[in-house]
Amino acid sequence: MSHSAEAKAQYNLNKLHKRLRRGVGQAIADFGMIEEGDKVMVCLSGGKDSYTLLDILLNLQQSAPINFSLVAVNLDQKQPGFPAEVLPGYLSQLGVDFQIVTEDTYAIVKEKIPEGKTTCSLCSRLRRGILYRTAKELGATKIALGHHRDDMIETMFLNMFYGGKLKSMPPKLQSDNGEHIVIRPLAYCREKDIEKYSDAKQFPIIPCNLCGSQDGLQRQVVKEMLQDWDKRFPGRIETMFQAMQNIVPSHMIDKNLFDFKAVSHHSAVVEGDTAFDKVAVPAVPVGLLAEDEEDSATSAVMVQKLELV
Ligand code: SF4
Repeated sequence: MSHSAEAKAQYNLNKLHKRLRRGVGQAIADFGMIEEGDKVMVCLSGGKDSYTLLDILLNLQQSAPINFSLVAVNLDQKQPGFPAEVLPGYLSQLGVDFQIVTEDTYAIVKEKIPEGKTTCSLCSRLRRGILYRTAKELGATKIALGHHRDDMIETMFLNMFYGGKLKSMPPKLQSDNGEHIVIRPLAYCREKDIEKYSDAKQFPIIPCNLCGSQDGLQRQVVKEMLQDWDKRFPGRIETMFQAMQNIVPSHMIDKNLFDFKAVSHHSAVVEGDTAFDKVAVPAVPVGLLAEDEEDSATSAVMVQKLELV
Protein backbone atom coordinates (compact mmCIF):
# COMPACT_ATOMS: atom_id res chain seq x y z
CA MET A 1 0.00 0.00 0.00
CA SER A 2 1.39 3.44 -0.97
CA HIS A 3 1.99 6.03 1.72
CA SER A 4 -0.98 8.15 0.65
CA ALA A 5 -3.30 5.10 0.50
CA GLU A 6 -2.18 4.15 4.00
CA ALA A 7 -2.81 7.68 5.28
CA LYS A 8 -6.27 7.66 3.68
CA ALA A 9 -7.12 4.26 5.23
CA GLN A 10 -6.01 5.53 8.63
CA TYR A 11 -8.05 8.72 8.20
CA ASN A 12 -11.15 6.66 7.31
CA LEU A 13 -10.62 4.35 10.25
CA ASN A 14 -10.31 7.29 12.64
CA LYS A 15 -13.52 8.77 11.25
CA LEU A 16 -15.32 5.47 11.63
CA HIS A 17 -14.00 5.04 15.14
CA LYS A 18 -15.22 8.53 16.09
CA ARG A 19 -18.66 7.86 14.64
CA LEU A 20 -19.05 4.59 16.53
CA ARG A 21 -17.71 6.15 19.72
CA ARG A 22 -20.19 9.01 19.44
CA GLY A 23 -23.05 6.62 18.78
CA VAL A 24 -22.18 4.52 21.82
CA GLY A 25 -21.62 7.61 24.00
CA GLN A 26 -24.96 9.05 22.99
CA ALA A 27 -26.85 5.79 23.57
CA ILE A 28 -25.25 5.44 27.00
CA ALA A 29 -26.29 8.99 27.86
CA ASP A 30 -29.79 8.85 26.35
CA PHE A 31 -30.80 5.63 28.09
CA GLY A 32 -28.76 5.91 31.27
CA MET A 33 -26.95 2.69 30.43
CA ILE A 34 -23.83 3.01 32.54
CA GLU A 35 -23.56 4.71 35.92
CA GLU A 36 -20.76 5.51 38.34
CA GLY A 37 -19.28 2.34 39.82
CA ASP A 38 -20.95 -0.07 37.39
CA LYS A 39 -19.28 -3.35 36.56
CA VAL A 40 -20.24 -4.08 32.97
CA MET A 41 -20.10 -7.64 31.75
CA VAL A 42 -19.54 -7.54 27.99
CA CYS A 43 -20.80 -10.68 26.29
CA LEU A 44 -18.32 -11.65 23.63
CA SER A 45 -19.36 -14.17 21.00
CA GLY A 46 -16.36 -13.73 18.73
CA GLY A 47 -18.45 -11.95 16.07
CA LYS A 48 -17.84 -8.47 14.64
CA ASP A 49 -20.51 -6.81 16.80
CA SER A 50 -19.28 -7.92 20.20
CA TYR A 51 -15.61 -7.25 19.33
CA THR A 52 -16.56 -3.73 18.28
CA LEU A 53 -18.63 -3.22 21.43
CA LEU A 54 -15.75 -4.22 23.69
CA ASP A 55 -13.26 -2.14 21.73
CA ILE A 56 -15.40 1.02 21.90
CA LEU A 57 -16.31 0.56 25.57
CA LEU A 58 -12.64 0.11 26.49
CA ASN A 59 -11.86 3.27 24.62
CA LEU A 60 -14.69 5.26 26.22
CA GLN A 61 -13.68 4.00 29.64
CA GLN A 62 -10.41 5.91 29.37
CA SER A 63 -12.02 9.30 28.90
CA ALA A 64 -15.46 8.96 30.51
CA PRO A 65 -16.08 11.29 33.45
CA ILE A 66 -17.41 8.35 35.46
CA ASN A 67 -15.69 5.21 36.70
CA PHE A 68 -16.87 1.84 35.56
CA SER A 69 -15.16 -1.48 35.08
CA LEU A 70 -15.45 -4.02 32.28
CA VAL A 71 -15.26 -7.77 32.25
CA ALA A 72 -15.49 -9.69 28.99
CA VAL A 73 -17.26 -13.03 29.09
CA ASN A 74 -17.36 -15.69 26.43
CA LEU A 75 -19.44 -18.81 26.62
CA ASP A 76 -17.78 -21.81 25.00
CA GLN A 77 -20.81 -23.93 24.11
CA LYS A 78 -18.65 -26.82 22.95
CA GLN A 79 -19.69 -26.53 19.37
CA PRO A 80 -17.60 -28.73 17.10
CA GLY A 81 -14.62 -26.83 15.74
CA PHE A 82 -14.90 -23.91 18.21
CA PRO A 83 -11.39 -22.41 18.32
CA ALA A 84 -11.15 -22.18 22.12
CA GLU A 85 -7.73 -20.50 22.09
CA VAL A 86 -8.73 -17.46 19.98
CA LEU A 87 -10.59 -15.34 22.56
CA PRO A 88 -8.28 -15.97 25.55
CA GLY A 89 -5.33 -15.04 23.31
CA TYR A 90 -6.99 -11.85 22.09
CA LEU A 91 -8.27 -10.77 25.51
CA SER A 92 -4.96 -11.44 27.31
CA GLN A 93 -3.16 -9.32 24.78
CA LEU A 94 -5.75 -6.57 25.30
CA GLY A 95 -5.17 -6.67 29.05
CA VAL A 96 -8.91 -6.68 29.87
CA ASP A 97 -10.43 -8.71 32.69
CA PHE A 98 -12.14 -11.74 31.19
CA GLN A 99 -13.75 -15.07 31.89
CA ILE A 100 -14.39 -17.99 29.58
CA VAL A 101 -17.32 -20.10 30.70
CA THR A 102 -17.46 -23.62 29.31
CA GLU A 103 -20.83 -25.40 29.20
CA ASP A 104 -21.73 -28.11 26.73
CA THR A 105 -25.07 -26.68 25.63
CA TYR A 106 -24.40 -28.14 22.19
CA ALA A 107 -24.86 -31.68 23.56
CA ILE A 108 -28.06 -30.71 25.40
CA VAL A 109 -29.55 -29.09 22.31
CA LYS A 110 -28.61 -32.06 20.10
CA GLU A 111 -30.21 -34.44 22.58
CA LYS A 112 -33.44 -32.50 23.06
CA ILE A 113 -34.19 -31.19 19.56
CA PRO A 114 -35.07 -33.65 16.79
CA GLU A 115 -32.73 -33.69 13.78
CA GLY A 116 -33.62 -31.09 11.17
CA LYS A 117 -35.49 -28.78 13.58
CA THR A 118 -34.08 -25.37 14.40
CA THR A 119 -32.12 -25.40 17.64
CA CYS A 120 -31.68 -21.67 18.18
CA SER A 121 -34.50 -21.05 20.60
CA LEU A 122 -33.41 -23.67 23.18
CA CYS A 123 -29.75 -22.80 22.63
CA SER A 124 -30.42 -19.08 23.27
CA ARG A 125 -32.47 -19.86 26.36
CA LEU A 126 -29.68 -21.97 27.81
CA ARG A 127 -27.09 -19.34 26.91
CA ARG A 128 -29.13 -16.60 28.54
CA GLY A 129 -29.44 -18.58 31.78
CA ILE A 130 -25.70 -19.24 31.91
CA LEU A 131 -24.83 -15.62 31.19
CA TYR A 132 -27.20 -14.37 33.90
CA ARG A 133 -25.69 -16.82 36.38
CA THR A 134 -22.18 -15.70 35.39
CA ALA A 135 -23.11 -12.03 35.79
CA LYS A 136 -24.29 -12.79 39.32
CA GLU A 137 -21.13 -14.71 40.17
CA LEU A 138 -18.97 -11.89 38.85
CA GLY A 139 -20.98 -9.22 40.64
CA ALA A 140 -21.71 -7.48 37.33
CA THR A 141 -24.26 -4.68 37.59
CA LYS A 142 -24.91 -4.45 33.83
CA ILE A 143 -24.79 -6.98 31.00
CA ALA A 144 -23.83 -5.47 27.63
CA LEU A 145 -24.87 -7.11 24.37
CA GLY A 146 -23.64 -6.30 20.87
CA HIS A 147 -26.96 -5.74 19.09
CA HIS A 148 -27.00 -2.68 16.86
CA ARG A 149 -29.45 -0.38 15.08
CA ASP A 150 -30.05 -2.77 12.19
CA ASP A 151 -30.81 -5.67 14.55
CA MET A 152 -33.42 -3.44 16.18
CA ILE A 153 -35.04 -2.50 12.88
CA GLU A 154 -35.03 -6.12 11.70
CA THR A 155 -36.62 -7.24 14.96
CA MET A 156 -39.33 -4.63 14.61
CA PHE A 157 -40.25 -5.94 11.15
CA LEU A 158 -40.07 -9.56 12.29
CA ASN A 159 -42.49 -8.78 15.11
CA MET A 160 -44.79 -6.91 12.77
CA PHE A 161 -44.74 -9.50 9.99
CA TYR A 162 -44.86 -12.64 12.10
CA GLY A 163 -45.85 -11.63 15.63
CA GLY A 164 -48.56 -9.02 15.06
CA LYS A 165 -46.80 -6.64 17.42
CA LEU A 166 -45.11 -3.30 17.00
CA LYS A 167 -42.11 -4.16 19.11
CA SER A 168 -38.36 -4.02 18.71
CA MET A 169 -35.31 -4.78 20.88
CA PRO A 170 -35.00 -2.43 23.84
CA PRO A 171 -31.74 -0.54 24.31
CA LYS A 172 -32.02 -1.22 28.04
CA LEU A 173 -34.14 -3.77 29.84
CA GLN A 174 -34.63 -5.59 33.07
CA SER A 175 -34.31 -9.39 32.97
CA ASP A 176 -37.42 -11.51 33.62
CA ASN A 177 -36.35 -12.32 37.16
CA GLY A 178 -35.65 -8.64 37.82
CA GLU A 179 -32.05 -9.37 38.82
CA HIS A 180 -30.19 -7.99 35.81
CA ILE A 181 -30.06 -4.91 33.66
CA VAL A 182 -29.19 -5.66 30.06
CA ILE A 183 -27.89 -2.85 27.85
CA ARG A 184 -27.24 -2.50 24.12
CA PRO A 185 -24.72 0.32 23.76
CA LEU A 186 -24.48 -0.16 19.95
CA ALA A 187 -28.18 0.76 19.63
CA TYR A 188 -27.36 3.84 17.51
CA CYS A 189 -24.61 2.20 15.43
CA ARG A 190 -25.06 1.05 11.87
CA GLU A 191 -24.16 -2.50 10.98
CA LYS A 192 -22.20 -1.39 7.91
CA ASP A 193 -19.99 0.83 10.09
CA ILE A 194 -19.39 -2.03 12.51
CA GLU A 195 -18.53 -4.33 9.65
CA LYS A 196 -16.01 -1.88 8.17
CA TYR A 197 -14.51 -1.20 11.58
CA SER A 198 -14.18 -4.88 12.37
CA ASP A 199 -12.48 -5.53 9.01
CA ALA A 200 -10.08 -2.64 9.48
CA LYS A 201 -9.20 -3.71 13.02
CA GLN A 202 -8.80 -7.33 11.88
CA PHE A 203 -10.61 -8.76 14.88
CA PRO A 204 -10.07 -12.55 15.07
CA ILE A 205 -13.63 -13.46 14.06
CA ILE A 206 -15.03 -16.81 15.09
CA PRO A 207 -17.61 -18.07 12.57
CA CYS A 208 -21.15 -18.13 13.91
CA ASN A 209 -22.38 -21.23 12.08
CA LEU A 210 -20.25 -23.81 13.88
CA CYS A 211 -23.30 -25.51 15.36
CA GLY A 212 -24.58 -26.29 11.87
CA SER A 213 -27.97 -24.76 12.71
CA GLN A 214 -29.45 -21.67 11.16
CA ASP A 215 -31.49 -18.96 12.72
CA GLY A 216 -34.97 -18.79 11.11
CA LEU A 217 -35.12 -17.88 7.45
CA GLN A 218 -37.48 -15.04 8.28
CA ARG A 219 -34.68 -12.88 9.71
CA GLN A 220 -32.65 -13.37 6.54
CA VAL A 221 -35.64 -12.38 4.41
CA VAL A 222 -36.21 -9.20 6.43
CA LYS A 223 -32.49 -8.40 6.29
CA GLU A 224 -32.48 -8.69 2.51
CA MET A 225 -35.61 -6.54 2.24
CA LEU A 226 -33.96 -3.80 4.30
CA GLN A 227 -30.71 -4.02 2.34
CA ASP A 228 -32.67 -3.68 -0.88
CA TRP A 229 -34.52 -0.61 0.45
CA ASP A 230 -31.25 0.89 1.61
CA LYS A 231 -29.88 0.65 -1.94
CA ARG A 232 -33.01 1.85 -3.70
CA PHE A 233 -34.16 4.50 -1.22
CA PRO A 234 -31.17 6.09 0.51
CA GLY A 235 -32.11 7.44 3.92
CA ARG A 236 -35.10 5.16 4.44
CA ILE A 237 -33.42 3.04 7.13
CA GLU A 238 -32.35 6.16 9.01
CA THR A 239 -35.87 7.59 8.77
CA MET A 240 -37.39 4.36 10.06
CA PHE A 241 -35.01 4.34 12.97
CA GLN A 242 -36.01 7.91 13.79
CA ALA A 243 -39.64 6.87 13.55
CA MET A 244 -39.00 4.24 16.21
CA GLN A 245 -37.95 7.09 18.49
CA ASN A 246 -40.93 9.30 17.63
CA ILE A 247 -44.05 7.34 18.45
CA VAL A 248 -47.37 9.16 18.63
CA PRO A 249 -49.67 6.92 20.71
CA SER A 250 -52.76 9.00 19.93
CA HIS A 251 -52.25 8.23 16.24
CA MET A 252 -51.85 4.50 16.58
CA ILE A 253 -54.66 2.07 17.40
CA ASP A 254 -53.50 0.63 20.70
CA LYS A 255 -56.21 1.15 23.32
CA ASN A 256 -53.71 0.37 26.08
CA LEU A 257 -51.34 3.12 25.00
CA PHE A 258 -53.90 5.83 24.51
CA ASP A 259 -57.26 6.33 26.14
CA PHE A 260 -59.45 6.98 23.11
CA LYS A 261 -62.62 6.80 25.18
CA ALA A 262 -61.43 9.80 27.14
CA VAL A 263 -61.22 11.96 24.01
CA SER A 264 -63.97 14.54 24.29
CA HIS A 265 -64.69 18.17 23.51
CA HIS A 266 -62.84 19.07 26.70
CA SER A 267 -59.65 16.98 26.39
CA ALA A 268 -56.30 18.51 25.41
CA VAL A 269 -55.29 18.35 21.75
CA VAL A 270 -52.35 15.96 21.54
CA GLU A 271 -51.06 15.93 17.99
CA GLY A 272 -53.71 17.77 16.05
CA ASP A 273 -56.02 16.49 13.39
CA THR A 274 -54.76 15.85 9.90
CA ALA A 275 -57.76 13.78 8.87
CA PHE A 276 -58.79 16.27 6.20
CA ASP A 277 -55.27 17.22 5.10
CA LYS A 278 -52.93 15.64 2.62
CA VAL A 279 -50.03 13.94 4.37
CA ALA A 280 -46.99 16.12 3.79
CA VAL A 281 -44.07 14.00 2.65
CA PRO A 282 -40.68 15.70 2.88
CA ALA A 283 -38.79 15.86 -0.44
CA VAL A 284 -35.72 14.37 1.23
CA PRO A 285 -36.11 11.57 3.81
CA VAL A 286 -35.61 12.93 7.30
CA GLY A 287 -33.01 10.23 7.98
CA LEU A 288 -30.92 11.31 5.01
CA LEU A 289 -30.83 14.89 6.26
CA ALA A 290 -29.68 13.73 9.66
CA GLU A 291 -27.02 11.53 8.06
CA ASP A 292 -25.65 14.43 6.01
CA GLU A 293 -25.41 16.57 9.06
CA GLU A 294 -23.76 13.90 11.10
CA ASP A 295 -20.23 15.07 10.56
CA SER A 296 -21.01 18.73 11.10
CA ALA A 297 -23.53 20.36 13.40
CA THR A 298 -25.00 17.21 14.92
CA SER A 299 -21.62 15.85 15.85
CA ALA A 300 -20.90 18.82 18.09
CA VAL A 301 -24.09 18.13 20.05
CA MET A 302 -23.26 14.44 20.26
CA VAL A 303 -19.78 15.16 21.58
CA GLN A 304 -21.30 17.34 24.27
CA LYS A 305 -23.65 14.51 25.21
CA LEU A 306 -20.76 12.06 25.34
CA GLU A 307 -18.93 14.35 27.69
CA LEU A 308 -21.95 14.42 29.96
CA VAL A 309 -22.02 10.62 30.32
S1 SF4 B 1 -27.00 -20.61 15.47
FE1 SF4 B 1 -26.29 -22.34 16.74
S2 SF4 B 1 -25.14 -21.34 18.41
FE2 SF4 B 1 -26.38 -19.75 17.44
S3 SF4 B 1 -28.28 -19.72 18.64
FE3 SF4 B 1 -28.64 -21.11 16.91
S4 SF4 B 1 -28.15 -23.12 17.73
FE4 SF4 B 1 -27.23 -21.64 19.10
